[in-house]
Amino acid sequence: MVGGVIRDLLLGRKPVDWDVATLARPEEVCGEFEKVIPTGIAHGTVTVLNRGMSVEVTTFRGEGAYSDGRHPDRVVFLESLEEDLKRRDFTINAIAYDIERKTLLDPFGGQRDLQRRVVRAVGNPMARFSEDGLRPLRAVRFASILGFSIEKKTFSAIRKCLPVFRKVAPERVREELLKMLAGPRPERGIEMLRSSGLLGEILPELLPGFGFAQNRFHRHDVYRHALACLRHSRGDPVFRLAVLLHDIGKVMTAAGPPGMRTFYNHEKVSAQEADDVLARLRFSNDERRRVRALIENHMIHYEPAWSDGAIRRLVRRIGRENLEDAFRMQEADVLGRGRLVRQGLSNLRRLKARIRRVLRQDAALKVTDLAINGSDVMRLLQIEPGPRVGRILTALLEHVTDSPKDNSRQRLEELVRLYDL
Ligand code: ATP
Ligand code: MG
Repeated sequence: MVGGVIRDLLLGRKPVDWDVATLARPEEVCGEFEKVIPTGIAHGTVTVLNRGMSVEVTTFRGEGAYSDGRHPDRVVFLESLEEDLKRRDFTINAIAYDIERKTLLDPFGGQRDLQRRVVRAVGNPMARFSEDGLRPLRAVRFASILGFSIEKKTFSAIRKCLPVFRKVAPERVREELLKMLAGPRPERGIEMLRSSGLLGEILPELLPGFGFAQNRFHRHDVYRHALACLRHSRGDPVFRLAVLLHDIGKVMTAAGPPGMRTFYNHEKVSAQEADDVLARLRFSNDERRRVRALIENHMIHYEPAWSDGAIRRLVRRIGRENLEDAFRMQEADVLGRGRLVRQGLSNLRRLKARIRRVLRQDAALKVTDLAINGSDVMRLLQIEPGPRVGRILTALLEHVTDSPKDNSRQRLEELVRLYDL
């Protein structure tokens, strides 16, 4: 057993997945088990499914040169585990447990580094980062999720290897970023990205906010506010990415002197910019839509004087199914302000209660909730299908949003003519 499993077991953490290294060639492994998936057979990796477990089995291997900083020019199978451990990225990931001899193999001092809580490259960091440009980001990811620091030479090699990092496929960057955001204290990881120079390659949009003062509602500058919100965010990694990016349009929309700035329309600009970020990192269309909506709707300033109609319009705009997400975003934003937090939270609680109450009245929120439909409108006005029908239905929805008791067939039939403008 090798890699992350051993690292996590030695740390007393639950391993995420199980990796085995073996002298056996992939064909031989396939022959030994009933269910084997040829995951990456060219690189010597197959996945064995056995007794409800999925285990990645990789033949001892080394790599030829990496002339492109992304893929080894060729993979060579090796005769010994020691040789295999040399190609692994960090000392803490290069510890193996020999199941037959019941001994740990730790040629690079991985256990010592686990104790000191440092991420250290196996061998020369510059050389290792030049082989595979993703490794610098992995260093930060492991340091972030484990709460480790990065050893000095390993850390300073990151900045020098940024040109190699630029060649890495965006999908691989996205996966590491998401793993980091899934862990505890991801804001520390973001700060390590900044201090190592990687942030400018991955999320340069966050940098202008560094040192950019806001206004009396905020204790932090724009960048620190994003980190504070991230720290307080509860949810899946894509949600947390939305939290991290929710204000990236602020610098561009800022007006007024430092300390008294306004950021008119920044939620729209931030949503657009965040969408560009997600497209660059090859997120799916669904993920992009979700993040865009979360950011676009993050400015809700509820006041108890709002009418029930205003509450319904808010719910309509956000979508009932997205309310929960939207509230978690609001909560992170309030907590990350570092000022007026108690008021902000109680205001949110009041809005939630109000929405619950208004939704219980079961009023129409969509055109299809109306007591009449398009055919009724066409029949009553003797008109053909067309945009006019839609306009009338929308106007009726607006009407019942303010006066829910008018959502009856009889009353709407009377109102149709009034709204046929
Ligand atoms: P996780 O808990 O996130 O799965 P892990 O250590 O298992 O962490 P993986 O990405 O699953 O990480 O990789 C398994 C092992 O393969 C690592 O522990 C490391 O030894 C090796 N490895 C993975 N990616 C690289 C890489 N880019 N360069 C060198 N070695 C790598
Ligand atoms: Mg793993």
